[in-house]
Amino acid sequence: TRNLAEADAEVFAGVASELERERYQIELIASENIVSKAVLEAQGSVFTNKYAEGYPGKRYYQGCAPSDQVETLAIERAKALFGCGFANVQPHSGAQANGAVMLALTKPGDTILGMSLDAGGHLTHGAKAAMSGKWFNAVQYGVRREDHLIDFDQVEALAKEHKPTLIIAGGSAYPRQIDFARFRAIADEVGAKFMVDMAHFAGIVAGGLHPSPFEHAHVVTTTTHKTLRGPRGGMVMTNHEDIAKKINSAVFPGLQGGPLMHVIAAKAVAFGEALKPDYKSYIAAVVENAKVLAATLAERGAALVAGGTDTHLALVDLTPLGVTGRDADEALERAAITCNKNGIPFDPLPPVKTSGIRVGSPAGTTRGFGPAEFREIGNMIADVLDGLKAKGEHGDPSVEADVRSRVRALCERFPIY
Ligand code: PLP
Repeated sequence: TRNLAEADAEVFAGVASELERERYQIELIASENIVSKAVLEAQGSVFTNKYAEGYPGKRYYQGCAPSDQVETLAIERAKALFGCGFANVQPHSGAQANGAVMLALTKPGDTILGMSLDAGGHLTHGAKAAMSGKWFNAVQYGVRREDHLIDFDQVEALAKEHKPTLIIAGGSAYPRQIDFARFRAIADEVGAKFMVDMAHFAGIVAGGLHPSPFEHAHVVTTTTHKTLRGPRGGMVMTNHEDIAKKINSAVFPGLQGGPLMHVIAAKAVAFGEALKPDYKSYIAAVVENAKVLAATLAERGAALVAGGTDTHLALVDLTPLGVTGRDADEALERAAITCNKNGIPFDPLPPVKTSGIRVGSPAGTTRGFGPAEFREIGNMIADVLDGLKAKGEHGDPSVEADVRSRVRALCERFPIY
């Protein structure tokens, strides 16, 4: 019954430094957010002790009444949030959710068609290094050189040539809305199932500022920890009863054993929060703030992939500023601004260097930053990058120190936890 500080000083110190980091760094990693204390409490609850293999009402263990109660809450809230008929809230992560769809709807060796990593797709959509790329004949589409939008002529040509079983839309670094109807028409033409992985923009769908994929997709997957602002985890949804049955068997016993009941409890809390009116205003602010951040960086000389953003993230091409993504994300971390280097479409630089950075507004917006703060953040980023350009890869220590103190002041005005 000893608390963490007494029981394990070393791990406690790690947790304490993470708390300090989150409090005083500006978090721009587009896939991250800052969850509520209620989500943290549910995830840190006694449900971590419980085995509950199976589904509510059909468990393989006794003592599952409380598990049934919270899992049912999570399922019903997810269905209400997205207006869909079925949700499986058990996938441990987004990768597991995508794996479950593949297990349900395809066989090893089948052809799948997804967006390539270079164009902003995700590893689990058929990248060579991932299981989806090794166990399937994975064909990949990309974006057009001229506007960085999905190349639907290519999607259609590849679909007709390779006849995939599954077509996947969605990605990790695609800043624009996706034309789901167009994808579905192509899927229908070749007899493929159409899956949307809305991991990044799920919260914007829930907040009503992004078209919903459910009208067009056979199946929809998501993570729960990005714009959706819940615990780390995954989920699969559909409106098709036959697919729903297959998804349940694919998640358990197909791919996973016991569900993480503490995480499912936290998912229920987060979905409950997302159903409240505040969340709509939060998402409206996320979208507006991303536009302000992107516009500020463009005013200061960076180029925006796809010309800007409709979502919570922008992919920033640093080529006109004469710095690489790697030097930029390292310099920004020294200045207490966290983001990630990211390849841009047709990037001439290798993935360890890259020509770009990806920035997002979900975490900063949660702590209360508005357009004025995101404008200031854009200017701070540009100051650091100008310092890099002037002084070379190790940056300008005095500019970085100055930005560090501006970041500290901003974070102190918008405290978390
Ligand atoms: N799908 C997309 C589009 C993602 O961006 C991510 C994570 O970045 C995932 C799936 C995988 O999620 P996880 O990291 O929870 O496995």
